[in-house]
Amino acid sequence: MSVMTSVNEELNVLQSTQTVIQEALRNLGYSNEFYELLKEPMRMLTVRIPVRMDDGSVKVFTGYRAQHNDAAGPTKGGVRFHPEVSEEEVKALSIWMSLKCGIVNLPYGGGKGGIICDPREMSFGELERLSRGYVRAISQLVGPTKDIPAPDVFTNSQIMAWMMDEYSRIREFDSPGFITGKPLVLGGSHGRESATAKGVTICIEEAAKRKRIEIKGAKVVIQGFGNAGSYLAKFMHDAGAKVVGISDAYGALYDPNGLDIDYLLDRRDSFGTVTKLFTNTITNQELLELPCDILVPAAIENQITAANAHRINAKIVVEAANGPTTLEGTRILTERGILLVPDVLASSGGVTVSYFEWVQNNQGYYWTEEEVETKLCGVLVNAFENVYNMAQTKEVNMRLAAYMVGIRKLAEAVHLRGWV
Ligand code: GLU
Repeated sequence: MSVMTSVNEELNVLQSTQTVIQEALRNLGYSNEFYELLKEPMRMLTVRIPVRMDDGSVKVFTGYRAQHNDAAGPTKGGVRFHPEVSEEEVKALSIWMSLKCGIVNLPYGGGKGGIICDPREMSFGELERLSRGYVRAISQLVGPTKDIPAPDVFTNSQIMAWMMDEYSRIREFDSPGFITGKPLVLGGSHGRESATAKGVTICIEEAAKRKRIEIKGAKVVIQGFGNAGSYLAKFMHDAGAKVVGISDAYGALYDPNGLDIDYLLDRRDSFGTVTKLFTNTITNQELLELPCDILVPAAIENQITAANAHRINAKIVVEAANGPTTLEGTRILTERGILLVPDVLASSGGVTVSYFEWVQNNQGYYWTEEEVETKLCGVLVNAFENVYNMAQTKEVNMRLAAYMVGIRKLAEAVHLRGWV
């Protein structure tokens, strides 16, 4: 096998996920038939969305919606707007959503959507027309008891509001439970916007306890300053940790004495860009190798790989992004005694509060911010413990342990329905 092929294989997120799913099912004693069903989404829709651009021309965008498996309940997962969205990535992301929902024990299967576009280059009006066009294109397949979208990379509460409005118009009744991550006045939940970062924070606290690291004074490096990264920087800073490095898509900032997080939060744009304001930047690759106690990749896939895992200089790596560490990266970090909290556990706070939002929509009665936070904390502490204990008792790495916890309920649901 040439070096090129093996590198490409290492970076193929769908293949990597399938490898771990197969191992997890085997370890749990499930037959290969379960793997045959669960290795791909059971449903995958590709749509073409024509959008009238501001200059009068029509641009046609490609979008996807993947539904991994609905044995445990309706499918659930975000919609990503990004130039690098691909069919394979959306498939892998939908499988990860199944695992997240299993780990935090939600009555959902995994789903995911994406549109190939660059929202940084689009106007407000173009984004609204694209969002509404996407909902029209997938409306047959989704709904409050079928498949419930949410925000993901480069989508936010405004986009959820347009999508909810479009869906409600098509169905001709108010349907707040069709989508989560909505603005508060449209049936959103307190704490949803910061939920992913809150969940990551809880995982950091739990991991730090196991490694006997004090959060106060701990050095933290965060890759990515989007929704998860920016809220996390604030939570860590408020907890007395020293955030020494942050980054965006264009570069990274480092200060061994701790960065001025409030200033950076104030200056970031809605896509999380902030480093363009500085000249003394370092690269994202350099950022990942900075000496620290806690490293949080909160940006995109395939950041910690066979090429750099040997040089990671942290005691704990907590994955706030989806898929930031490859399997080879996972193996190397684990071998080096670095405690890895995998994405399907660490980033499950978002979908957990999405579930709370959906429950509130269904009952038409809304909770306080404190109620949401207490419930989220209970769920995540429990999930962390389950995964950590699985890793200890079965002597497997944290990623495989998380997959085992995540896939167990789904496999059982599939079996009880008589599918396999
Ligand atoms: N996009 C988020 C994730 O990857 C949240 C999904 C949701 O809330 O349904 O977990």
